Amino acid sequence: MSRFAYVNGRFVRYGSATVHIEDRGYQFADGVYEVIALAGGKFVDLDLHLQRLDRSLSELRIERPMSDRALTFVLDNLAKRNGIRNGSVYLQITRGVAPRDFVFPRDAVPQVVAVARRAKPIAQTAIEDGVKAITIPDIRWARCDIKSVALLPAALGKQAAREAGAYEAWQYDRDGFITEGTSSNAWIVTPDGDLVTRPATNAILNGITRLVVIELAKAAGLRFVERPFSIKEAHAAREAFVTSTTSFVMPITQIDETPIGNGKPGSFTRELREKYMAHMAEIAGAAAGTWKWA
Ligand code: PMP
Repeated sequence: MSRFAYVNGRFVRYGSATVHIEDRGYQFADGVYEVIALAGGKFVDLDLHLQRLDRSLSELRIERPMSDRALTFVLDNLAKRNGIRNGSVYLQITRGVAPRDFVFPRDAVPQVVAVARRAKPIAQTAIEDGVKAITIPDIRWARCDIKSVALLPAALGKQAAREAGAYEAWQYDRDGFITEGTSSNAWIVTPDGDLVTRPATNAILNGITRLVVIELAKAAGLRFVERPFSIKEAHAAREAFVTSTTSFVMPITQIDETPIGNGKPGSFTRELREKYMAHMAEIAGAAAGTWKWA
């Protein structure tokens, strides 16, 4: 765990890092966040994260409190102060502190906090054997494209997954189409060999890992199709996996009680995971195959 956190312009001891009780993030989930991976002391796809942060802020009409340069300096400094080279930083920006009122306060100052986290090792068995996902109804709001701190449905979904012995919960919309995981994007490979993920509309968060994996898949010449897919199609898929900043490319070999394909991670999944790990290794300045997350 972090020794130091960043709170509104200061590095403070983690144990005494606090915000005001009338922070609108606390009362209304009126704020946004980003999680950015660190590999070998370097941020992974930082520009894409900062662009998405900008978009989330402007969709909520929260003024950007710091320049990209200042933010990068703070996050880098935070990682270094905590001695973290492989892991992630969590950055949260809320609209500010004001007496509780739904209407936007006129002169609230956005609150900026950040914590750094050491990499959690990913079990080798999870990568080699794949993990399980369950399917649950998507009970979130209509603007899942905004990376807001309103994460109660995600917490409920992830808890349901854990209680079912699963790694992730894939959420489905009213028409029975998968939207995404609680903290990851969902992908399948059809029996015909199409790599499929849902288009980045308001129904999902456009994952940075998703964007990078799309580029890797195209460069590898895989047949990539962006379209919604149903629960039924997911159960009948040849392969399935999720992507996220901290899971990278994680094979899903069981959805609900149905084994996916032959129950082992498939060739598309393995290829894309290797390519994504090589992308991280390159950022870390290490030779592919030598760099380790934990
Ligand atoms: N979807 C949701 C709902 C998420 O919370 C996340 C991770 N925060 C993702 C997808 C994956 O996004 P990224 O690849 O940027 O981590």
